Amino acid sequence: MTHLQGSAFAGNGSCACAACGSSMSRRTFLCTGAAGAVAAPVLAAVGPGTAVAQQAPAGATAPAAGAVAPGRPILIKGGCVLSLDRAIGDFDAADVLIEGSKISAVRPNIEAPNAEIIDAVNTIVMPGFVDTHRHMWQGILRNALPDGSLDDYRAVIQRTFGAKYTPDDVYAGDLFSALGAIDTGVTCILDWSHIHNTPDHTDAAIKALQDSGVRAVFAYGNGQNATGRYWEMPDQKYPDDIARLRKQYFSSEDQLTTLFLAGPSAAPELILKAFKAGRDVGAPITIHVGVGEFGRNALLEKLHAEKALKADTTYIHCCTLNDTEWKLIRDTGGTISIASYVETLMGHGDPPIQKAIDVGIRPSLSVDVETSVPNDFFQQMRTVFSLQKRAVWDRRLAGDKDPPKFLTVREVLEFATVEGARANGLLRKIGTLTPGKEADVILLRTDRLNVMPMNNAVGAVVTSMGPANVDTVLIAGKVMKRKGELVGVDLARLARLGEAARERLYSNANVPRSRV
Ligand SMILES: [Zn+2]
Repeated sequence: MTHLQGSAFAGNGSCACAACGSSMSRRTFLCTGAAGAVAAPVLAAVGPGTAVAQQAPAGATAPAAGAVAPGRPILIKGGCVLSLDRAIGDFDAADVLIEGSKISAVRPNIEAPNAEIIDAVNTIVMPGFVDTHRHMWQGILRNALPDGSLDDYRAVIQRTFGAKYTPDDVYAGDLFSALGAIDTGVTCILDWSHIHNTPDHTDAAIKALQDSGVRAVFAYGNGQNATGRYWEMPDQKYPDDIARLRKQYFSSEDQLTTLFLAGPSAAPELILKAFKAGRDVGAPITIHVGVGEFGRNALLEKLHAEKALKADTTYIHCCTLNDTEWKLIRDTGGTISIASYVETLMGHGDPPIQKAIDVGIRPSLSVDVETSVPNDFFQQMRTVFSLQKRAVWDRRLAGDKDPPKFLTVREVLEFATVEGARANGLLRKIGTLTPGKEADVILLRTDRLNVMPMNNAVGAVVTSMGPANVDTVLIAGKVMKRKGELVGVDLARLARLGEAARERLYSNANVPRSRV
């Protein structure tokens, strides 16, 4: 049995039963109802009965379970609108008109006689949150490592569980993470996917993202094994398989899923090889840097010497980079992703919020790992906000006569939307409520006891709200959540898929499972 030092698993729970996992797999999930369903957000029944998630059928006379009939304009009416587009501004009460996948107008008193109305009174209407880094394959390992450090994470999540993941486990993890994101108002998410032990694992991850209906950036990364030396794995194809992925899944940029290359945490020559494979197929890059003591290795100076730092790259964490590396990111036009909550918990180093601002880089935000971190962006915004203010107060209390400015809630909300869209290479399409952009829109309830009476819309979102306020979610003009419920998702069936995957995984990884 694997000894899991510092993890939640060092208990005496009984071994998981592999047979449980055999009754429900990605294949049965997909086979039963997948035919011709490419455009549907989530497919397929598990055995007879209701699909796990599906939109109203095309041509349905009455939209089912909160969905809107396809082809009909949608008018979001009477909400407090935060466009986050400075040229458009905010409205105490206004409407958002959506035609097809796009926003066509944002202003008060829009007339659209043919439109389906979504009543937005007592809600804040704003762009969906954008996550720039989440390891979505871990969606079936939520809260599995609540007390763990970074070293525990590598030992338990990557080298024990990750090494034993099947493609079906990847599918389940990604599906849970994606649907969970939508449920909390995250409409676009970069799947920092480093579970590609075989090409089948890769296909499963992409399939889950497509099935979920989330706007996803699939960042193709390495595999996991017991040693952490992915390049020694016999069946892994990283990074060269990205050429197949570009052809097979990502030949168009005009789709809900787009492609990045996820650079490995490895020696510079392996990083350079991966960067080249990504850039050869026009994939932007995302890479973890400045993580803990290991991150003090001047990696970016070495990569810069090889002319490898470009504007197509997002740098994650950046907690222990040196000053030269920070300037290199800025001067080469890179973006950054701060996962402040996990950085605070697990030993990455201080979240570099002030550092980024001082250098002139506006950060994007990310959840990173659901093994220790809640899956919503309210937590991310409040962590960044409180840490930055605490650091400034510390300086003031220590007698600093020229301390930095305090962050404002509006700046933090922009990090969670606009800067996320920029880092994910999608600011031209999403991140603000702007006519011509794709309609990734969320409605947050203000008639709930945690925020009413609402006095300051941006303040309400950043300081007081949580996932329970997320009433309605649209992605590319499609209603994914309405009246607080995901559209067409059968939670009971989804739960069974997750339980089966979890049982199979714990058994395969030889980890005793006890939930208490
Ligand atoms: Zn990460």
